Amino acid sequence: MAGRDCGSCSLCCILPDIAEFDKPANQPCRHCLPGGGCDAYQARPATCRDFYCLWRTDATLGDEWEPGVSRMMMYAQGPQLTVLVEPEAGTIWREAPYRGWLEARAQVLKPMGGYVVVCAGEEVSVVKG
Ligand code: SF4
Ligand code: SF4
Repeated sequence: MAGRDCGSCSLCCILPDIAEFDKPANQPCRHCLPGGGCDAYQARPATCRDFYCLWRTDATLGDEWEPGVSRMMMYAQGPQLTVLVEPEAGTIWREAPYRGWLEARAQVLKPMGGYVVVCAGEEVSVVKG
């Protein structure tokens, strides 16, 4: 989406587990550079090349959802919305304005068989719509 770029954010290189790299969740990828960036940028695999978090692509998300602000990254897989929270910010998703938005999105996804799942450190929660 025009006007949105990653800046110094690298949450998607830290929070998810990436089987392809044998990378566990909540640990920086071995290609992460100090201060942001990727030392394998030109050769990064399609998994990285094709990925954009929801904030990068969904114009309905406000600035509060910028990953550096919310300390979360979201991505959609079919009708499922996954929210990965920085472990150090564990409960932020339960607070306003985030929780209300997640519940509203869960309501929208429910008739399609979808749901919202939040992973914060070791805690996994399903948001009820
Ligand atoms: S989480 Fe989103 S904003 Fe942050 S680096 Fe990944 S794609 Fe960019
Ligand atoms: S290879 Fe680069 S872009 Fe892909 S997860 Fe690692 S640091 Fe991020």
